[in-house]
Amino acid sequence: MPTTATDADVLAMVTFSPEDGRIWFNHRRMMMLDTVSFATLRDSLIRNLGMRPARALLTQVGYQSGVSDAEMLRRDWPDDYRERSRIGTRFHGLAGIAKVEPVKTDFRPDEGYFRGEFLWRHTVEDDAHIKTHGLGTDPACWMELGYATGYLSTICGQLIVFREIECRSMGSEVCRVLGRPAGEWGDVAEDLSYLGLADINARRRRSPEAAVAMPQHALASPDTPGRDVVGESAALKAATSLLGRVAPTRATVLVTGESGTGKELFARVLHAQSKRSGGPFIAINCAAIPENLIESELFGVARGGFTGAVQNRAGRFERAAGGTLFLDEIGTLSMAAQAKMLRVLQEQEVERVGATGTVKVDARIVAATNVSLREAVARGEFREDLFYRLNVFPIHLPPLRERRDDIPALITHFMRRFNALHDKSVGRLTGRAMQALLNYRFPGNIRELENLMERAVILADGDCIDLPHLISDGHTLDSSFYRFDASGMLVSDTEAARVSARPAGMEVQLEAWAEQVVDACQHGPKGQFADIEEKVLGAVMTVALERSKGNIAAAARMLGMKRHQLEYRLKAKDRPA
Ligand code: ZN
Repeated sequence: MPTTATDADVLAMVTFSPEDGRIWFNHRRMMMLDTVSFATLRDSLIRNLGMRPARALLTQVGYQSGVSDAEMLRRDWPDDYRERSRIGTRFHGLAGIAKVEPVKTDFRPDEGYFRGEFLWRHTVEDDAHIKTHGLGTDPACWMELGYATGYLSTICGQLIVFREIECRSMGSEVCRVLGRPAGEWGDVAEDLSYLGLADINARRRRSPEAAVAMPQHALASPDTPGRDVVGESAALKAATSLLGRVAPTRATVLVTGESGTGKELFARVLHAQSKRSGGPFIAINCAAIPENLIESELFGVARGGFTGAVQNRAGRFERAAGGTLFLDEIGTLSMAAQAKMLRVLQEQEVERVGATGTVKVDARIVAATNVSLREAVARGEFREDLFYRLNVFPIHLPPLRERRDDIPALITHFMRRFNALHDKSVGRLTGRAMQALLNYRFPGNIRELENLMERAVILADGDCIDLPHLISDGHTLDSSFYRFDASGMLVSDTEAARVSARPAGMEVQLEAWAEQVVDACQHGPKGQFADIEEKVLGAVMTVALERSKGNIAAAARMLGMKRHQLEYRLKAKDRPA
């Protein structure tokens, strides 16, 4: 797998998903903003905030974007070191911001050193500025300068400050920019104030010998390992902000959401953020416990409570004392168990099965369901009074398809975890693999993504996950999306995503095996291939018959054949050659 980004790679990073209303540039969601709207926005910033604050704001927007691009490059094309300064100019061109022409550059990646001069042609910001403000005495390519500064500072690991010494907004034909380490510029207070890094400058002046430190937010990894709920999407934020509000209280919480949306993890985070975090977190999946055991599991058993109960045993309610009790799939409780549950919630005490007295319980209840309890109430399958007891503070976890913006962060999170678990060093995904994941519907939600990633990390050879590694049995990541081809034309990439549904591992094995067969045919006696073919069929039929315990009809069904077809082949197999 090449780890150097070509022009085609950079182009292929852009994906259009019109059905989904999203455009992606590799890991980040983009939008198209026409230049007239941009000019209006920029002008109103200047009029409302004033020239300097507007300049600072746009410089910082550009800076952050440059930092993100550089971090993406470092992550996805680690070997691309010498090309990195060039690729930044490519991003600029691709984003429609400017045409960048290097005049001379001195880039020493190993030393983290950069010094260079560029020409910028037809920058979008000058167009906007000249249209609304005419020509003036100050340069106007603020966002572009911020981008170049953020990008090269991240690449070099030291602050590389860019200045525009000629600008179209000052009447020049092209814009000319110089970039060099902050220390080489002399006084950079002005530049730093636009970058919002004035504090760093103040520190530097106090200790002049100290090198200019990199701004912390420029070095921070986009996702912090160890954080529990991964994602920044608006849909997830809504849920986590509710969690933050309710966690410190004693309120009963009902977490709703489809299977695989991470309800238990959410409950654990709630517990960890609560005042009971020092107490136990006890989880029980109501659907996983047999009907006849659920009451003793929940409420405990008294000695002699039923046959075989030789000892007193505390139930989950009692074990969660001082902590949190997480009741998953609460909608599956029987009516009898629901009645007892209601009593426990009302009285705050449990009666062990077979006991005569009650025990006080002090557990905070977090219940979860993937079915609508309201509908279950309407159908008469769930007690209305219990529903209202549980529905004190409902929080809905969105399905993954409604928080696609989180998919890249989740991918990184799972990649790290499974790399550590399986001793692998997978660092990235191919463009088509990433695009397929960004467009997939994920009926199984985060759990499905987690499983896909674990499989892919195991199957990946080298450091890169490709599309075939993501295909799980019977599933294709079917989706339609559009991307740029090498000539910059937008093409549909539906076909690329529709790879065979065969498990990738099997495909690899088959290929290796086919090599051996061809070898054998080439060097073996005549009729070798027919012989091998028969043996393969025979082996498959034998396994199917073993699994069906000799039942021919069942074995035929297993193989997707008609019974008589299998019988015919079995007879042919037994016939002497
Ligand atoms: Zn300019």
